[in-house]
Amino acid sequence: MGFPMNIQNPFKTLPFQNRMLKADFHLHAREDKQDRISYSAKDLIRLAAKQKFDVLSFTFHDDLFYPRDLISFAKKRGITLVPGTELTIHGRHVLVNGIKKLPKVKELTGLEKLKDEAIITAPHPFFPTSTALREQLLQNLHLFNNIEYTARYNQFVNFNKKAASLAQQSNKPLLGNSDCHHLIYFGYTFTQVDASPSIDSILEALRKKKFQLTTTPLPTKWLLKAGIENAFNEYVVKRISPQK
Ligand SMILES: [Zn+2]
Ligand SMILES: [Zn+2]
Repeated sequence: MGFPMNIQNPFKTLPFQNRMLKADFHLHAREDKQDRISYSAKDLIRLAAKQKFDVLSFTFHDDLFYPRDLISFAKKRGITLVPGTELTIHGRHVLVNGIKKLPKVKELTGLEKLKDEAIITAPHPFFPTSTALREQLLQNLHLFNNIEYTARYNQFVNFNKKAASLAQQSNKPLLGNSDCHHLIYFGYTFTQVDASPSIDSILEALRKKKFQLTTTPLPTKWLLKAGIENAFNEYVVKRISPQK
């Protein structure tokens, strides 16, 4: 892995004193029946522990996956699990971290009622997939705490560029996540959080924008294997069979 490129959040340069928590707030695993994934949540936690991660959030599709045994499994490895989900609202994905129960949100405007409790992020907002928020993000920017910078890119193909410029214009921070579906690209893009390792402290730091994106482009062969073809497949599939 090359030397990570630090992208400052556009709003300010952060005076970090202590060691930052290494975090990924957008993770999937085999236990989610809505995804086709080869690794288990524990496999991912083991890998994250090797990479010295402190904070992980499993964000299954329209589900809250937060079992007790997994929380203690992670804790034994120095990792705090933050409960989260990836909601599908009119076919578009919305990342929600810090929930206590699965929110029932049918419209994007319904996110308003979650804002006090949870952290709301626009995941992969301009990727060429039907689940990207795109114009819905532009129209509802006030509902979102963060815009995601997603791991699936390299120096030639980077669908995060628009997200980064929107973040700059709108003064929204970029939250670095893997949106992990394959272990090969975990750890290239993550977020460093200026917090202590408790859920409350982590959420507070996110709310106060005390975090920073760290990202490294993927090696091309892994990008091809892991992500781009999925994105294009979905794009092509969507063209052939319009959304329900
Ligand atoms: Zn998604
Ligand atoms: Zn996802």
